[in-house]
Amino acid sequence: MDIGTRRIFNEDHDMFRESVRRFWTEEVVPYHKEWEKVGMVSRELWQKAGEQGLLGILTPEEHGGIGGDLLSAAVMWEEQMYSNCSGPGFALHSEICMPYISNYGSKEQIDRFIPKMAAGTCIGAIAMTEPGAGSDLQGVRTYAKKDGDDWILNGNKVFITNGCMADMVIVVTVTNREAKTAAHGISLFLVEKGMPGFQAGKKLEKIGLMAQDTAELFFEDVRLPASALLGQANKGFYYLMNELPQERLLIADMAIASSEFMFEETRNYVTQRKAFGKTIAHLQTPSLLQSCPSARPQTSSIEHISV
Ligand SMILES: Cc1cc2nc3c(=O)[nH]c(=O)nc-3n(C[C@H](O)[C@H](O)[C@H](O)COP(=O)(O)OP(=O)(O)OC[C@H]3O[C@@H](n4cnc5c(N)ncnc54)[C@H](O)[C@@H]3O)c2cc1C
Repeated sequence: MDIGTRRIFNEDHDMFRESVRRFWTEEVVPYHKEWEKVGMVSRELWQKAGEQGLLGILTPEEHGGIGGDLLSAAVMWEEQMYSNCSGPGFALHSEICMPYISNYGSKEQIDRFIPKMAAGTCIGAIAMTEPGAGSDLQGVRTYAKKDGDDWILNGNKVFITNGCMADMVIVVTVTNREAKTAAHGISLFLVEKGMPGFQAGKKLEKIGLMAQDTAELFFEDVRLPASALLGQANKGFYYLMNELPQERLLIADMAIASSEFMFEETRNYVTQRKAFGKTIAHLQTPSLLQSCPSARPQTSSIEHISV
């Protein structure tokens, strides 16, 4: 398949892509159908990805990462889509959750989480969405009340990627109900599996992404130490606004790569499948295409089709 060769990538990226493609082909593709049946991938896969240096590619070396560039991370996103295996929530863990800790975490938080996350032994998730707060993040109701140095967290979240498997969840929480706008009263907390009162609910049934772990989370009087606060209190919405563009970028890149994959699959099929003595690619309606040029696909990857 002639994909993944756009010119923005240099030779180092191409070499990295080869090893990443091998990982997806050998460690993920053969098992993905089974993971789709159980609704999530194995923990061992996370550790294999960690051992091969494929988690937290952007993490600075001084934080225990490999200090890779964004294009190297993009190689990982794209190869996932080219392998057609949507199960592993690696991008969310590596390029959404880990940067919050690297960028806003204390030294203690960085030392506590980043090495384990890079190794795949601590799986990360981020919990923004609630039944009443999706696109409108300022509708968050999950609330943490100060109690001495601690915080007491109550609320619930929905549609959380890596929700069942997560060892650490970044939870978007209201901490000041009196703030002049909701955005001025939101904080982020690092909530860990095993904290009393924190529970992952059932894994949600979806129409796609069958091997991707998507869950509800519940917080009932979870006592959080001061050290669980990420960055400063009531600055959480600013951190979200800083980090969400990278999330949108990776989703867009993965969507494009997924479309490329599907296009190539379709091209292979129509140039091989025969009906009425010809490949079905030769059974198009030329007069319709000629009279409607704007209906022709315009992307460069499609222009070079020759059948
Ligand atoms: C597979 C999956 C994984 C997810 N993983 C996570 C995760 O890890 N963490 C997390 O926090 N969340 C996660 N989400 C939740 C996701 O971020 C939300 O679904 C998303 O923010 C949209 O929120 P909503 O579903 O409440 O839709 P709504 O906000 O109710 O929107 C419904 C529709 O209305 C449209 N709409 C909303 N506002 C406007 C407007 N102002 N103008 C015009 N149209 C509008 C939207 O575009 C959408 O089409 C996940 C969702 C899915 C499906």
